[in-house]
Amino acid sequence: MNTFETLGLPKPVLAAITELGFETPTPIQEKVIPVLLTGTTDVVALAQTGTGKTAGFGLPLVSLIDFASKSTQALILAPTRELCMQITSDIKNFSKHTRGANVVAVYGGASIMNQIYDLKKGAQIVVATPGRMVDIISRNKVDLSTIKYVVLDEADEMLNMGFQEDLDAILSTTPKEKNTWLFSATMPDEVLRISRKYMHEPVEITVGNKNQGNDNIEHVFYVTHERDRYAVLKRVADFHPDIFGLVFCRTKIETQKVADMLIKDGYNADALHGDLSQAQRDHVMKRFRGRTLQMLVATDVAARGIDVNDITHVIHYQLPDEIENYTHRSGRTARAGKTGISIAIINTRDLNKIRTLERLTKKRFTQGTIPSGYEICEKQLFWLVQRVHDTQVNEKSIESYLPKVYEQLKELTREEIIKRLVSIEFNRFLDYYKNAADLNANAAGGGEREHRPTREGMVRLFVSVGQMDGLTRDSLKTLIAESTGMDENIITWADVKNSFSFIEVKTEVSEALINAIKGKEFRNRPIRIESRGNREEGIPRQRDRGGRKEWGGGGERRGGSGGGYKGRSSSGGGYRGGSGGGGSFRERSGSGGGERRSSGGGFRERSGSGGSREKSGGGGFRERSGSGGGERSSGGGFSKKGGFGKKKDF
Ligand code: AMP
Repeated sequence: MNTFETLGLPKPVLAAITELGFETPTPIQEKVIPVLLTGTTDVVALAQTGTGKTAGFGLPLVSLIDFASKSTQALILAPTRELCMQITSDIKNFSKHTRGANVVAVYGGASIMNQIYDLKKGAQIVVATPGRMVDIISRNKVDLSTIKYVVLDEADEMLNMGFQEDLDAILSTTPKEKNTWLFSATMPDEVLRISRKYMHEPVEITVGNKNQGNDNIEHVFYVTHERDRYAVLKRVADFHPDIFGLVFCRTKIETQKVADMLIKDGYNADALHGDLSQAQRDHVMKRFRGRTLQMLVATDVAARGIDVNDITHVIHYQLPDEIENYTHRSGRTARAGKTGISIAIINTRDLNKIRTLERLTKKRFTQGTIPSGYEICEKQLFWLVQRVHDTQVNEKSIESYLPKVYEQLKELTREEIIKRLVSIEFNRFLDYYKNAADLNANAAGGGEREHRPTREGMVRLFVSVGQMDGLTRDSLKTLIAESTGMDENIITWADVKNSFSFIEVKTEVSEALINAIKGKEFRNRPIRIESRGNREEGIPRQRDRGGRKEWGGGGERRGGSGGGYKGRSSSGGGYRGGSGGGGSFRERSGSGGGERRSSGGGFRERSGSGGSREKSGGGGFRERSGSGGGERSSGGGFSKKGGFGKKKDF
């Protein structure tokens, strides 16, 4: 077993450790200290609080710093003021017997002038929260040009708290030649992105105690606008080319719709819900188990008890109506000691539900950044390269063709061939994601919430139709008037959103209007008008009904009146593929040799300003049907079986 002595720490530091009463290194210290002490490498360490990680980076740091110099050599960034203070105090303890050591903490909520004064005296180590650090940098009160070590402590938490931009700003002002040590309890994509962007071939260190069961699930949520929900799903799939996932929807209709759209967009997906016969369900499950299917879209009920191993992602296309279903859903991944990711696609109103979930499950939920088109292209490119690298060549079968192949390619250099080979696939993604919008909704900004205060004597009503139905403010008023026989002028204000609208009417006519519209349809879709009631506040309350916890919201569950997020239950989530009742958004059909995006251009954006910003079409390529034994939409270039060399429909 290692001791602090054998780890290579210098004498003054060892003396400090003894005084602190540390007898043996913790597992993370054992692993990380020797690597960090080399002072020559970037490190990514997966470590929770309480594992001794502060000493893990603090001890090597005070061993490496040249305290004879007063220049700032190390910057430690941490998410909170408390952590900053804790780290500072620990580092001071570690450097107790080291002459000339000066550690300064800078964080928000305290006098910046005092902190600047402390910095002026010459601090070799600065411990900072990102926001305050940016402030100090912008005032030119710190010289980071001499930085040799940057520590990102609780990196996931910093990103979770929205410090991404600040981190970018800070890291870009530090010298290129430095070591970056990143510590994080979880490793969401955002942390990986930071490590990719700012670190050079980092050594990865994880402490060995594999957590059991649900602790192996990483909980992530993406906040987007309602209209972009499906586009986000596709991005998740595209960003994880080897995804083997379970997508949960709340209703059978929505489940089928999402599966249909995925299939249509070229993904290797299918639906599982109660409207299928037992034989159909068995068939779907067989394909999923056999990994012929890469994404299974399912209802909570149908997916109960699915015991498929190695599911990499559980995606909550919508959060479940009943809270405990979240745990059931997520538990489909990370089985048998494996790890898995549970991703919830939510809109800004659902943020409270995430907080409720965090409280109830005692798990931390990280807000993820929806991958950009650029990141997806990059990911796909390297995945493709990896597949080329790993492809097993059937020497015997290909042998006789090779002379002709070589002949055909003889004018091309090796580099040219590589470039062209990967471009065959890469270009599709580039085309598709070129100019792709940022789908992240500003969580703090309230997304689609309506902030205009309702005037006195008026009531605001929710209407289940919107721009997607081809409606404008005026035509919505006319539609309501014609459908109810009431005067158009009773509507004093209207706000037409993408898939729903709000109107204001006098309180005394609201009930009559709600009743008069009942049973009316527009383009085969029922028009519903409901009082927003408590939903306006958007504060879901957890209630216990018949032993089942539900998200509150001042009304019944989906399908009834009220309920925070049931606006479009009948239409299944803010988009309507081709089958939708004449809305302005239609899926492409039959353009360019098939209905998949693989044909490149020709995607149709939703018309109307509020339409989806993601093109229709979607992910992977499909193998020609027939290869999977005549199954519907079989194959998909993403499946393990679907080798790169197989015939594809482009
Ligand atoms: P941390 O994860 O850095 O917050 O550390 C958790 C707690 O463990 C702190 O109170 C440290 O002082 C303590 N600690 C760190 N390393 C050791 C060690 N090797 N032996 C005993 N206690 C330690």
